Amino acid sequence: MIDIADMTSPEIKEAIENGYKTAVFAVGSNEQHGPCLTVSTDTILGDVLAYNVAEKLGNALKAPTINVGCSEHHMMFPGTITLRKETLHMVLKDYVTSLARHGFKKIIILPSHGGNFAPLQEVSKELKAIDQNVDVVAYTDLIGFVDYIMATSTDLGVSKEDSGAHAGEAEVSMMMYAKPSSVREELTGDAKGYIGAFDEEATQKIFTHGIAALSPIGVLGDPKQASKEHGERYINDLTDAIVEYINSK
Ligand SMILES: [Zn+2]
Repeated sequence: MIDIADMTSPEIKEAIENGYKTAVFAVGSNEQHGPCLTVSTDTILGDVLAYNVAEKLGNALKAPTINVGCSEHHMMFPGTITLRKETLHMVLKDYVTSLARHGFKKIIILPSHGGNFAPLQEVSKELKAIDQNVDVVAYTDLIGFVDYIMATSTDLGVSKEDSGAHAGEAEVSMMMYAKPSSVREELTGDAKGYIGAFDEEATQKIFTHGIAALSPIGVLGDPKQASKEHGERYINDLTDAIVEYINSK
């Protein structure tokens, strides 16, 4: 049992005393994900990733995913809820402070939504300064995160453009695997979004003008080739890559 949300306080105390001194949590979002995926997508994928990473690291517990993040660039689509970056900074500080007070010695923070990487980077120094005895590892490499996913797409024979950075083949596949009831499978053949390169220029455009500037349906990629099998591969490869990153820190 490694998910704090499913454990009692005495069970958590015992786990920490028995050496489970690492806590892992994701920073998700509640935002539009095109016509095929529910707005909870990044939170659900964050839950799965944080759980898998904690399991693979060993001696680690998964703490609750932060369910809303910085999604101003999706606000033109109904259902999106966004935090100001200052709010997210404060929530992150309170999370780290709380976990540190219970005796965790390493705290790993994994954004599962593109808009959370920069705010996490901005506050990471302050998070590391909260407790000298606690090692805070903030995963802040958005381009690296996308590159991991693209490496799997290439292996699977899906183009980077279709795989996409938001609600494309990669995310739809991962959701088919992680939570099928959040996928509108009958719409995946007709949800092609922006299929240009996801580079600095595209990222800049999204964060300045909103995602609709690239795709009127809010999709980066094309989910037509999505499958549960692909989803399992994406999630396993991503878990391995993140664990490798953490172990190199
Ligand atoms: Zn997403």
